[in-house]
Amino acid sequence: MKALEEYIVKYGQIKSKDILKVDNFLNQLVDIKMLREMAKEWYLHFKDKGVTKVLTIEASGIALATLTASLFDVPVLFAKKGLSSNMSSNLYQAKVFSFTHNNMNNIFVDKNYLLKNDKVLIIDDFLANGQAVMGLLDLCYQAKAKVVGIGIAIEKGFQKAGDMLRSKGYDLKSLAIIEEMDPVNKIIKFKG
Ligand code: 5GP
Repeated sequence: MKALEEYIVKYGQIKSKDILKVDNFLNQLVDIKMLREMAKEWYLHFKDKGVTKVLTIEASGIALATLTASLFDVPVLFAKKGLSSNMSSNLYQAKVFSFTHNNMNNIFVDKNYLLKNDKVLIIDDFLANGQAVMGLLDLCYQAKAKVVGIGIAIEKGFQKAGDMLRSKGYDLKSLAIIEEMDPVNKIIKFKG
């Protein structure tokens, strides 16, 4: 998606050769106009898949998933990263190693919210080593829900999770695929 690539070049900060900061339009300040365009791209790609629920992981995926779910007119469900006293104990649980925080999290969804007949579209902001997506796939597997697609805003192609998911047959639609980032010369190369 050309407009997203342009945003990444204009606003993104290359923190290292494998970490991109996009707090100023995606991860903290949320640029609704851009996110609406991104949601439209996923809608056009997945509109014939019978999506019944959009699934993401808190917190950065929520805005993207919500705008996308509103186009499909279906609920958005987000996996929680911790347990709180007001959550049910009837939960699906999966483990996710966080790329950015370098720690292991358990993620949870209430069993009443992810159902056997759901056709799930997974949405997230970044794809790095695929841990977050694998955790969400695991929750769907436990619920016997069908995953009909995966939408990623920024795939870091050099980290290979995209190749792995495509080779497993998932319909993965990444809106921008970064092939290489050079923090010294501040250059980002995109695929295609
Ligand atoms: P993965 O689970 O695929 O290894 O990493 C994806 C998750 O880590 C995403 O949910 C995202 O929040 C975070 N992440 C991975 N790489 C980056 C990055 O370069 N920049 C930012 N801001 N988040 C990232």
